[in-house]
Amino acid sequence: MKNVMDIFKTMEYGPAPESATPALAWIQERQPFGLFINNQWVKPSSGEYLESINPATGKLLAKIASASSADVDTAVAAARAAFETWGKTPGHVRARYLYAIARHIQKHSRLLAVLESLDNGKPIRETRDIDIPLVARHFYYHAGWAQLMSGELPGYEPLGVVGQIIPWNFPLLMLAWKIAPALAMGNTVVLKPARYTSLTALKFAEIMQEIDLPPGVVNIVTGEASQVGEALVRHPDVNKIAFTGSTEVGRSIRRATAGSGKKLSLELGGKSPFIVFDDADLDSVVEGVVDAIWFNQGQVCCAGSRLLVQEDIADQLITKLRARMEKLRIGEPLDKAVDIGAIVSPGQLKEIQRLVATGVEEGAHIWQPSWACPTEGYFFPPTLFTNVSPATTIAQVEIFGPVLVAMTFRTPAEAVALANNTRYGLAASVWSENINLALDIAPKIKAGTVWINCTNMFDASSGFGGYRESGFGREGGKEGLYEYVRPSWEMQKSVPPREFPVAIDTASSNGADGAHDGQGATGEGAGDEEKTEEFPISSNGYQSAFASLPPIDRTPKMFIKGKQVRPDSGYSRDVYGPHGQVVGQVGEGNRKDIRNAVEAAHAASGWATGTTFSKSQILYYIAENLSAREAEFARRIVQQTGRSLADATAEVQASISRLFSYAAWSDKYEGDVHRPPLRGVTLAMKEPIGVIGMAAPDDYPLLGFVSLIAPAIAMGNTVVAIPSEKAPLSATDFYQILETSDVPPGVVNIVTGERDTLTQVLAEHDDVDAMWYFGSAEGSKRVEFASAGNMKRTWVNYGHPRNWLDTVQGEGEEFLREATQVKNIWVPYGE
Ligand code: NDP
Repeated sequence: MKNVMDIFKTMEYGPAPESATPALAWIQERQPFGLFINNQWVKPSSGEYLESINPATGKLLAKIASASSADVDTAVAAARAAFETWGKTPGHVRARYLYAIARHIQKHSRLLAVLESLDNGKPIRETRDIDIPLVARHFYYHAGWAQLMSGELPGYEPLGVVGQIIPWNFPLLMLAWKIAPALAMGNTVVLKPARYTSLTALKFAEIMQEIDLPPGVVNIVTGEASQVGEALVRHPDVNKIAFTGSTEVGRSIRRATAGSGKKLSLELGGKSPFIVFDDADLDSVVEGVVDAIWFNQGQVCCAGSRLLVQEDIADQLITKLRARMEKLRIGEPLDKAVDIGAIVSPGQLKEIQRLVATGVEEGAHIWQPSWACPTEGYFFPPTLFTNVSPATTIAQVEIFGPVLVAMTFRTPAEAVALANNTRYGLAASVWSENINLALDIAPKIKAGTVWINCTNMFDASSGFGGYRESGFGREGGKEGLYEYVRPSWEMQKSVPPREFPVAIDTASSNGADGAHDGQGATGEGAGDEEKTEEFPISSNGYQSAFASLPPIDRTPKMFIKGKQVRPDSGYSRDVYGPHGQVVGQVGEGNRKDIRNAVEAAHAASGWATGTTFSKSQILYYIAENLSAREAEFARRIVQQTGRSLADATAEVQASISRLFSYAAWSDKYEGDVHRPPLRGVTLAMKEPIGVIGMAAPDDYPLLGFVSLIAPAIAMGNTVVAIPSEKAPLSATDFYQILETSDVPPGVVNIVTGERDTLTQVLAEHDDVDAMWYFGSAEGSKRVEFASAGNMKRTWVNYGHPRNWLDTVQGEGEEFLREATQVKNIWVPYGE
């Protein structure tokens, strides 16, 4: 036995075990666990149970119910029935329940922490000090949003029944991230925990009973992905799926829900950069790296798994890091002095081993501490790879284990390029004592969260979620609430479809009278062709001769990179008026034209970094130039649709007003500054999404088009727009407005042609970051399905009309939210 003097000399930790007894007793009293439906424990209809293993020992921990799709049906029916009341329950009442949940989480905090460590293998220090406190905080925070919903989200309603699927790496925390906002906004829930880690969710179910939550509001269904997960995803009575897990499964869920109208949020994988500049405080950096990649054994979606170090300090940092790694303690998760616990399952361990072996084969240098891992259970030592080239497997693939790959850079620009050299975009850390440099780098990194001189910080007030293949949607913050609501007008489905084109009676038509001056024309059924001006006859007869000349042909082209271009195909398509007569021709766009347009839109990415003031000025200028040609644009609408001139003029005027709205918003739809519980702030920046592909609706040829491009460019995106297929001439006229309004080349690109064919190319294009589609139900489905390739964000109408003239439906924050993504930049204060 060591005496105090020995310990003082060696500074070694002794064991500091947390007792497992209360948690094991809790399990023994209840297992085999049932399903939690309607606040009751029910047996799975299959009569089958799964084994939950303690990964630190490999031994059986508990038996949990293996539900079938029939059980999912029962749970969804319970949630649906509960929604009838819960969805109408006043916010204050919901707030009281959420508050009670938070309180009970705190009351049971140690039991929950121990259960989580036993089930998942993560150190008790993490479950006790990080996971469970964050769970309670999440419910407190959302109790507040339940209370404030009616005032802060006017015009929004809950979605209904929400299916939630969570992973094993933060079992209770992921449950909280899903359930708290769902309940706060008035939804009911069916949640599937991960197969390996269901125990804390089952304890949570008990808490639902303790607080007397109305039956059916929360249902917990354990079991296999192939049974429970897939049944939830495909269930016709589920209004939304919220998923956290692998990008591959996220992709399959995107495809499975395509066209169903289910709202979807996906929080997927990552390969997050940890960038260290040469002026960083290296001792802090070392502790940061420990948090970034050895927290939860590296099984963290936002783990800082790619260490990018400025070349001149690389050797020094690597030496310090190795010394620190040598001191990390791995072992029994319930030991309070342990840094690294067990890997969740033998399968996950094998996958880590496989990827590490690949790294060695690829020529990277591996380094591991001299000490050995426990032989019982599933452990893997902290591992550092150097001499890694950016294109190799270990630099690109999410390992989801305690494995760090290090690379070097010379300049800040190179650091950004390396950081963004990934298909993911979840998080990043930037380390520098130069705040100017750090704040310059943060917006350049494509990731939903950037930590400056810190890492793996979370708080309910600051939304979390990805860019690119890390998924879409946010959890936490006000932005996270919108994942669980929809505009009330959509629920009412009261928008009558607008017929197009309007057939008119030529016999009673009086032509386009009044159209030329744009004044006061109210006549129904204006003419389908522009009426020839009646020229007065002059004494020399010149004017009459002029009048008899054929009109000069005008050939609308496509608009790419600020230039009018002919279609690659060399074909044109006819545009018909209301009587089926040809009123013009536009280019028949194809795949090549779309590719050129996407390239141009990318090349114009500097638009994002320009000032909001200049964007607003340009939008006002567009409005000004459109206004100067109001009558001409109205006539064009009449010509294509056969609507009355008054109607068409109203559409042009609404378009001008819309441009004014987004000119106004462009310097007002700004970010927030959050005050999470730390000495510091998070800057919630609303960033553009990038290149947005859009297919405009048919029914308002000009207004529909303007209503989409204006919010997108106001927020700094660049656009490839497919105009109304039936009435594209308003959009092709519009490029003349763009040309005269100082819009930089490539910011708006217009490709005419068959809407759904061109949309398909855009939706499949890996360099398009979002796709907006306002067309048919079938087209919406195809967009959602195709978008799974690069997990682009989509916004589709499922064939439902929208009244574009209405300012609630046709403009506003919904559009701005679709045009932006929130990046949270964490900036701690102090020395
Ligand atoms: P999965 O994506 O397979 O699992 C996450 C959740 O989805 C689990 O509840 C799982 O159920 C469920 N699920 C799996 N397949 C389907 C499906 N087809 N339909 C509906 N639900 C489904 O992650 P894994 O656990 O297999 O981990 C694999 C890899 O995923 C990791 O190595 C890591 O790279 C990544 N990952 C990322 C996470 C993140 O936080 N972003 C979290 C976990 C993993 P079940 O548990 O029953 O299989």
